[in-house]
Amino acid sequence: MASNEDIELLKDGERLDGRSFDELRDINIEAGILKRADGSAYIEWGKNKVMAAVYGPREMHPRHAQETTKAVVRARYNMAAFSVPDRKRPGPDRRSIEISKLVSEALEKVVFTEKYPRSVIDVFIEVLQASAGTRCAGLTVASVALADAGIPMSDMVAGCASGKIEDQVVLDLGKNEDNYGQADVPIGYIPRTEELCLLQMDGNLTIEEYEKAMELSIDACEEIYELQRGALKEKYSTDLDEDEIEELKEGVE
Ligand code: UDP
Repeated sequence: MASNEDIELLKDGERLDGRSFDELRDINIEAGILKRADGSAYIEWGKNKVMAAVYGPREMHPRHAQETTKAVVRARYNMAAFSVPDRKRPGPDRRSIEISKLVSEALEKVVFTEKYPRSVIDVFIEVLQASAGTRCAGLTVASVALADAGIPMSDMVAGCASGKIEDQVVLDLGKNEDNYGQADVPIGYIPRTEELCLLQMDGNLTIEEYEKAMELSIDACEEIYELQRGALKEKYSTDLDEDEIEELKEGVE
């Protein structure tokens, strides 16, 4: 977060892209778009375009990385070389290794890993176009891809960030707001249990500002969760009635 006082982020008290302080960028999610993957999903979130592909559960190689009592959720976040204005050097860097680790840990909270000892569930997150908030978009779309792969989960994770620009707490920072704002707080949220499974903070907020940012992000995550479910419903619409669905769920649990 390269704070720069000379860069204008609000004009007459309004955000430059016309959004209100509690408004998300447009989000569209599609489930199941890659034939070869066990599960996949694609998200467009503002100008971000992110694809997720899931493979597994399958036997973990190398063997020494196996966990005897559970599966390992192994997310790999990658930015395409053409995803940003300055060509991104291909391959992992410190930032992508960090994001991969925290997305893996967030997803592991919802996957019933104990069902698949010694296995790995690979989650590839490919950022095709980046415009701030890609870790949240990646986490959100990866959850849909895991569900599309039929991986048993307690819930999906929705991700979103809030932050501070020109002393105002706002939802879902855009590119300049992220790069030149005062703070950025991405979260991963599990709607069913109301738990956080990812929390980072770049910059500084007062306790009141932090609480406001969390309120904005959690409300937005509830909204994003509906979009995630909508994408899955669109792919898996069914003629079963609710009792039949409950019976099937019991069989899985
Ligand atoms: N970015 C970039 N080059 C990089 C890394 C990031 O241009 O090597 C841009 C990209 O648009 C990204 C934004 O900076 O979305 C913010 O990056 P940050 O590290 O805050 O992660 P994000 O907000 O994408 O989760």
